Amino acid sequence: MSAAAMQSPTTDPLELVREDLREFAGYRSARSERLDGRIWLNANESPWCNPSDPDARLRRYPDPQPEALRSLLADMYRCRPGQLLAGRGSDEGIDLLVRALCRPGQDAVLVTSPTFGMYAVSARLHGARVVDVPLRDTPQGFRCDFDAVAAAAEANAVKLVFLCSPGNPSGTLLPIESIAALAQRLEGRAVVVVDEAYLDYAQAPSATSLLGMQRNIAVLRTLSKAHALAAARIGAVIADAGLIAVLQRCQAPYPLPGPCVELAVAALAQPVRAGSAARIQTTLAERERLHAMLASSPQVRCAYPSRANFVLARLKEPQDAFDRLLSAGIVVRDLRSSERLNDALRISVGTPEQNRAVAAVLGSDGGAA
Ligand SMILES: *Cc1c(COP(=O)(O)O)cnc(C)c1O
Repeated sequence: MSAAAMQSPTTDPLELVREDLREFAGYRSARSERLDGRIWLNANESPWCNPSDPDARLRRYPDPQPEALRSLLADMYRCRPGQLLAGRGSDEGIDLLVRALCRPGQDAVLVTSPTFGMYAVSARLHGARVVDVPLRDTPQGFRCDFDAVAAAAEANAVKLVFLCSPGNPSGTLLPIESIAALAQRLEGRAVVVVDEAYLDYAQAPSATSLLGMQRNIAVLRTLSKAHALAAARIGAVIADAGLIAVLQRCQAPYPLPGPCVELAVAALAQPVRAGSAARIQTTLAERERLHAMLASSPQVRCAYPSRANFVLARLKEPQDAFDRLLSAGIVVRDLRSSERLNDALRISVGTPEQNRAVAAVLGSDGGAA
């Protein structure tokens, strides 16, 4: 199939990239020249290895986008390798999108609070405005008002709409049809970014399945949560291949440390992945137990349903609950500094034993003396 035949008919998202960056080539590193040889003297690397690295795994600069990692990730996330850029966690993906699309001092990003803080941090560092369309707090959980999001994006020179699904800290999974309709409405105007850091826990289709129909969608995935590799800092942006090429040119020359890539490749081998999948199943069962425990506790005002690996809860005496958890040695995320969650804690799902420790403090017979 020709490249043209594989493209969907929708507007090319390259038109949304900052005009001054469309032809920008980025840094040409020694690694980016496609040469072959026996003696490599083109990157000012040391010809000897460090004694702490006797196998010389670290002596040379790493491949900017190692083929093995990229194809394993593309296979897992069901896209073509050219539609995927690996980077230092999804955090780097967020930052690259903001830098490539938003003109500082002019364009805006849209967020739906309460949400992940890095969208607004990256926007602020880059001089892009942040438009907030708050999620609606309903008895069934937080809901995204897609019509209000579209209207605010149209009215505010928004280049990026950051959706988080399942949401952090809301736990809400967004309907994929609504994401598709939003992207369609904002075509030629904005890219809809779907942060799927917790999708492994939702057992729902990824927004990557929409890329064939809508090219103004970018999906963020990460090995930091369900794959238990937070310190390796490996995440991915999945989007239109042309947009991915632009993002790569905006990326640092050697973004992925060699040892982290080796670890990630090992973690994506089939038997290891099967183990990760089994632990996800355990987490799902534990999440429901944790939610049920909190929902029935007299200390809890409201425990939100969750499609992720945490539960968000409003407490009657949040300070007291936080303190009692802490004196039992349990650290949870205190969300009380965020405007609409001033009585809320976010509790990650732990091992069964860890969750029992939480239940001993917050359960119906937990020590609220
Ligand atoms: C944890 C988290 C991430 C992961 O970020 P990395 O940089 O990949 O570690 C991304 N988005 C959200 C919403 C998160 O909660």
